[in-house]
Amino acid sequence: MSDQGGCLCGAVRYEVDGAPLRTAHCHCESCRRAVGAVVATFACFSASSFRYIKGVPAVYQSSPGVRRTFCSRCGTSLTYQGEKWANEIHVLTATFDHPENFPTTHQAFAAERIPWFHIGMD
Ligand SMILES: [Zn+2]
Ligand SMILES: [Zn+2]
Repeated sequence: MSDQGGCLCGAVRYEVDGAPLRTAHCHCESCRRAVGAVVATFACFSASSFRYIKGVPAVYQSSPGVRRTFCSRCGTSLTYQGEKWANEIHVLTATFDHPENFPTTHQAFAAERIPWFHIGMD
């Protein structure tokens, strides 16, 4: 089974095989600013199961060893890769064509959550 996703304008498209290793809402300030939202929600895969099928995203190193990709045309944040999770790629769940396939089960940096922002997790 594979899932596809991409950016708002369609210039960058990707495909990933199989089920995610895990899923998480990240509340850290770096992710919030990178995606321009009060939380960043990821589905994490082994890097070898992910590939771009259209276009090439721009890369921003938000911290040493961290690579965040985004569409250089429309600005959509697409992925996160960090040395702490070598051999993984964390895909912004909202960019999948069917994000409902990846229910989010974990929270990261919960202490940095914006106090008025509450997540209901089924
Ligand atoms: Zn785009
Ligand atoms: Zn984060």
